[in-house]
Amino acid sequence: MSDVIHLLPDHVANQIAAGEVVQRPASVIKELLENAIDAGAENIQVYIKEAGKILIRVVDDGVGMSLTDARLSFERHATSKIKLAEDLFQLQTKGFRGEALASIAAIAHVELKTRRENDEVGTCIKIEGSEITSQEACVTPRGTSISVKNLFYNIPARRNFLKSDTVETRHIVDEFQRVALAHPAISFSLVHNSGELFQLPGTNFRQRITNIFGGKTNEKLVPVNEDTEILKISGFVGKPEFAKRSRGEQFFFVNDRFIKSPYLNHAVSAAFEGLLKEKSYPSYFLYLKVDPKSIDINIHPTKTEIKFDDEHALYAILRSAIKHSLGQFNVAPVLDFERDPNLDTPYNYENKPVATPQVEVDRNFNPFKNEYQSNRSFAPTFKKETAPWESLYTGLKNEEVETDVDLKQIEFESEEVTGNLFGATRVEENQNSTFQLNKKFIISTLKNGMLVIDQHRAHTRILYEELLKSITVSAAVSQQLLFPLVLQFTQQEIALLKGIKESLEQTGFIFSEIKSDSAEITGIPTSISESEVEMLLEQLLADFENEVPGSNFSQTDLLAKSLARSMAVKSGNLLNATEQQHIVNGLFACKEPSLTPFNKPVFITLPVEELEKKFM
Ligand code: ADP
Ligand code: MG
Repeated sequence: MSDVIHLLPDHVANQIAAGEVVQRPASVIKELLENAIDAGAENIQVYIKEAGKILIRVVDDGVGMSLTDARLSFERHATSKIKLAEDLFQLQTKGFRGEALASIAAIAHVELKTRRENDEVGTCIKIEGSEITSQEACVTPRGTSISVKNLFYNIPARRNFLKSDTVETRHIVDEFQRVALAHPAISFSLVHNSGELFQLPGTNFRQRITNIFGGKTNEKLVPVNEDTEILKISGFVGKPEFAKRSRGEQFFFVNDRFIKSPYLNHAVSAAFEGLLKEKSYPSYFLYLKVDPKSIDINIHPTKTEIKFDDEHALYAILRSAIKHSLGQFNVAPVLDFERDPNLDTPYNYENKPVATPQVEVDRNFNPFKNEYQSNRSFAPTFKKETAPWESLYTGLKNEEVETDVDLKQIEFESEEVTGNLFGATRVEENQNSTFQLNKKFIISTLKNGMLVIDQHRAHTRILYEELLKSITVSAAVSQQLLFPLVLQFTQQEIALLKGIKESLEQTGFIFSEIKSDSAEITGIPTSISESEVEMLLEQLLADFENEVPGSNFSQTDLLAKSLARSMAVKSGNLLNATEQQHIVNGLFACKEPSLTPFNKPVFITLPVEELEKKFM
């Protein structure tokens, strides 16, 4: 038999290598940006069309290349940056593998124009699938411009694997921001189709962060500086009260390179311990300098993970430096003692001082009988009011409350049962047959058992269906604000906001003006309060940013889901009887009452037989 092993042709080898380097348009952007920085550029422009699927062009004013270098740059393992393996431990550049251009040229149509300062003419090269199709002298400014067209044109499987334009653009913006944050002195711009997403002048770290994340960011930053033998830290952490509900703004740069490090992230969280609300994440922009010898950046092909020699020491230094900064800038005491309650979101209602109940205790009051007649002071205001019957139980422990009510429930239920609902029979609506358990569940009776409804989930379902209807069918009414509300956003958030503005207006928002870093709001949905708007929109935009849509991605659906979740009453909110009834009735008027829009169960039923079993 003849031999079977043969060497792969270069273009096949390059395609295979490309799979490691280029996963999506954003990977191309990252490689090209890094090359431009390595070439000493001071100004870098990025243009993309259709999320980079059609065109990615990066133009720099760096050193440029000679004719020979221009040709060589597309060869695999062709690099000007290292000569010996030892150089790997002295790296001052971003690239070093000499793989990026070769990989990109294997899977796209590439056009390179480049000229060095003292050359009279430049070089233009066109390459398709690793084959040079044209090469000529050309007139071009100093520096390099690389256009990458029709990415993955020769690997349909890869091309089909790309996500929606929204998602791919988000990846591009992520990479762009990381590079731009690591190099504030260089000016960057990013233009998508014909819209400018970022225009960042060369500046310092603080200003760069502010330019990317919006005007108000500046006041939220606390500087962190530490200089030790093994680690130099500079940069900023966000004040705890501005912590985000998503992990968006967390950046480590090690020797000017963005990296991910769950371990160091933990060090930051540890420094914030006790200062953050539940489920919120501190922002940070931390620039770490270490001896290049003490790290190995070679362990991951896309180079966002690195290995440190002395991780434990870095952890300790980082944590104490941040703690120190937070303390020094009086962040901790401010949060503990001088917090402005007006800034609190409804998430915190639970922690607010308890308002003295306005209702006198009436021990004979029966909550399950005609509350409207028996109690005139009953106020239907949402959220803050203490339900009158709640006062029945003041001074009693929770467990006792439950027992107490269960008894009444059983007594009551045996007499009054009508109405048909989902195979079970619920007690007539105007009978006050609900009560709240642990400020989380609404309990209602069924003919042959009981119904336990998760108040937050139920309300989410109700609002979701309402919102869907108002977005798609008829616009909801808005409440006009006395004074327009101006909210700050990042450029990326503004781009998203513009995309969903119309749908948002259908829900009751009125935007009088959207600028490059802020939005002016003059009307809001009737069901929310002004103080909730910022939190709500922030959450909404975070949801949109984090959405990795499956096949059934729909903007309307996502919008309705996100708003519904934010607007719905939370667990921990006390609901009076009217509110409970409102939720129960609203829920069972829904098309799909049993599941939340996120497919979680909304209620459970407990049949009497099961209860009886428990008493055996
Ligand atoms: P690496 O960056 O790992 O060296 P690349 O494939 O990204 O590998 O680039 C190969 C070589 O091409 C680089 O080492 C550099 O000499 C040259 N090069 C690439 N992009 C540029 C640019 N924008 N300006 C000047 N030279 C460049
Ligand atoms: Mg490179």
